[in-house]
Amino acid sequence: MKSCLFCKIVSGDAASDIIYENDDLIVFKDIHPIAPVHVLIVPKKHFTHLIEMVTSEDGRAVLSNIAELLPDIVLAAGLENRGFRLVNNCKEEGGQTIAHVHFHLIGGRPLKLELP
Ligand code: AMP
Ligand code: ZN
Repeated sequence: MKSCLFCKIVSGDAASDIIYENDDLIVFKDIHPIAPVHVLIVPKKHFTHLIEMVTSEDGRAVLSNIAELLPDIVLAAGLENRGFRLVNNCKEEGGQTIAHVHFHLIGGRPLKLELP
């Protein structure tokens, strides 16, 4: 989608610091990290939010790919020996600010339940 920032990152038209990539997804550093490690797992195909993703066959396949590759992504993020948090903010009330589905992988410090 032309106007979507994460589509531009996927196509290389906007800059990002990529730590992992395959045919279906890209993982890059969040520009405003809330912890020492904060990366975004982003499907290359545009889905506006998680519900749109899981209600399409393509989207479910990508979600399953993310689940399968999670150990590799965690390794690329350097969190294999620590705990982490995996978060999806879905739609406006869920705190989603970028309308291209993504999962926050956060770690590198102790995390409490923080709900601003
Ligand atoms: P959410 O609020 O769940 O939609 O998360 C959007 C995330 O994207 C926020 O944590 C932002 O800091 C991050 N973000 C926004 N623009 C960029 C960018 N150009 N590169 C990397 N991360 C970004
Ligand atoms: Zn997009």
